[in-house]
Amino acid sequence: MSRFACYPPILAYHRVGEFKGDHVPTVSTRTFERHLTFLARGRYRVVGLEEVIASLARGQRPARRSVAITFDDGYAETHEVAWPLLKRFGFPATVFVAPAEVGWPGFATWQQVAAMARDGLVIGCHTMHHSYLPLVNANRLPEELVESKRVIEERIGRSVTLLSYPVGGFTPQIQSAVQQAGYAAACTTNRASPHPGIDPYALRRIKVTERDGNPMLFWAKVSGYYDLFRRLREPA
Ligand SMILES: [Zn+2]
Repeated sequence: MSRFACYPPILAYHRVGEFKGDHVPTVSTRTFERHLTFLARGRYRVVGLEEVIASLARGQRPARRSVAITFDDGYAETHEVAWPLLKRFGFPATVFVAPAEVGWPGFATWQQVAAMARDGLVIGCHTMHHSYLPLVNANRLPEELVESKRVIEERIGRSVTLLSYPVGGFTPQIQSAVQQAGYAAACTTNRASPHPGIDPYALRRIKVTERDGNPMLFWAKVSGYYDLFRRLREPA
């Protein structure tokens, strides 16, 4: 396979705003704003993840300079900081929430999640309990994949068709369960799918961190040179 993925780079943000000294990958508000400015000035086409999946299903190549934006975990800052900035730039995005975490300190509330959905952000599922799925007992998978989806749909009044694997963890059995649960696609981290070609149930994403305040690094990530860049930094 060529070093260029056959779908646009999918950026994975976690928290945007103030670093709280925890393990959560955090991008400062200033850096996030710079990223959006970079995409706008560079005439990147920021597309929704559903659009990426629809064109994959049709076997179409993505338009040049396309890029998709996603957020994991549904932090309070996704609503308070990232959403207003995305709105200002008119960029679509997908936010993956875990129902068991919604409303806890540091996380967006259901009201906030529903408000983002009404405003055009796409809400996806991040399992019920933010579980590392390869370690979840098979009899608990329906709760993590089916019940979680139903709860989010009920809260936001929209269908949920996208999933993000917590910590990128999946197996072929989990992928089948995700498909059976009615999801159209699922995102992982930068782990490659074991299957050759494009696997809609293991869409690779590019984690964005504060280090990407460096414009060259961010450029590498949104331009499809990221894999090459990784090879140069981490020679085999
Ligand atoms: Zn997560």
